[in-house]
Amino acid sequence: MLIFDAHLDLAMNALEWNRNLTWEVAEIRKMEHGMEDKPDRGKNTVSLDAMRKGSIGICVATQIARYVKKSNPLPGWNSPEQAWAQTQGQLAWYKAMEEIGEMTQITNLTQLEQHINLWNLDSNQKKPIGYILSLEGADSIVSIAHLEKSYDQGLRAIGPAHYGPGTYAFGTNSTGGIGTKGKELLLEIARLNIILDATHLCDQSFWETMNVYNGPVWASHNNCRTLVDHNRQFSDEQLQELFKRKAVIGMALDAWMMAPNWVRGQSTPKTMGVTLDTMLDHIDHICQLSGNALHVGIGTDLDGGFGKEQCPNDLDTISDLQKVPKLLAARGYSDEDIKNITSENFLRFLRSAWST
Ligand SMILES: [Zn+2]
Repeated sequence: MLIFDAHLDLAMNALEWNRNLTWEVAEIRKMEHGMEDKPDRGKNTVSLDAMRKGSIGICVATQIARYVKKSNPLPGWNSPEQAWAQTQGQLAWYKAMEEIGEMTQITNLTQLEQHINLWNLDSNQKKPIGYILSLEGADSIVSIAHLEKSYDQGLRAIGPAHYGPGTYAFGTNSTGGIGTKGKELLLEIARLNIILDATHLCDQSFWETMNVYNGPVWASHNNCRTLVDHNRQFSDEQLQELFKRKAVIGMALDAWMMAPNWVRGQSTPKTMGVTLDTMLDHIDHICQLSGNALHVGIGTDLDGGFGKEQCPNDLDTISDLQKVPKLLAARGYSDEDIKNITSENFLRFLRSAWST
């Protein structure tokens, strides 16, 4: 069964973690044996090979680079120009993957349908992983004109914020509005028909954004605050607003966002009992709240700076997402619901956004 993953930071892993994603996950782990510069060394769960094995044939893949002002304690680049250059390097990696047939960029309806047809073919041919290019945090957009440059390079989704205060919006663990710059950006996003990713917006920026923006909006990787009480997750009120806008919300597999009271570096998936089935609690919550199974999908974030130490205990690599359909069926979801949740909701969203 084809699975759509609405959030992966593939290029960041290739360039900042120095991971050759054409390798098997086991090969990358072996290469990283003994390295201690990052908490997830030797524990990665994602590679293009593993995605292919699990039929995760299509994903939203990010460019990501934070610009930090002098007062900002978060790690990041010291100018927006440096952040822009970083995202351009990431794009160069995606292009290099295209050249060797590992990936293919999807920017319009024709390419989308061709790609889905290819993955629906029953053949042993090595199929490229389709990716929709997205920007996580808009700090690298040096000027509004840079957004059109990015659009021309294939950018089709954008989240104005990431962690902390940003140029265009305030993100997770910070508080503030979108200001004039944020509003200008939203106008340009709407003009170019880029999908707005509501993920990571702090509550104030979220509501201010909803007040001024009427274009297509999704949330690529965001769980439910009712289950894990933290500003990184959406409140029921925010979820309701997103349903009204026909949004799809991708469920993230970062353990601290799945189960309450996770302590980073101390809790383990085993001691906390976090499994793929824990994700189904969030899926269920969204389905109960919306009264259907049309607004939820999967946006794993499995390579977002964590690995096996902080993801579901029954997931060794991303290919284990193939266990999800069975788990959904066990909770009483119909075949149609399962198809919607694992791919069709996001595909329908893209078809609608790109047909205008
Ligand atoms: Zn994120």
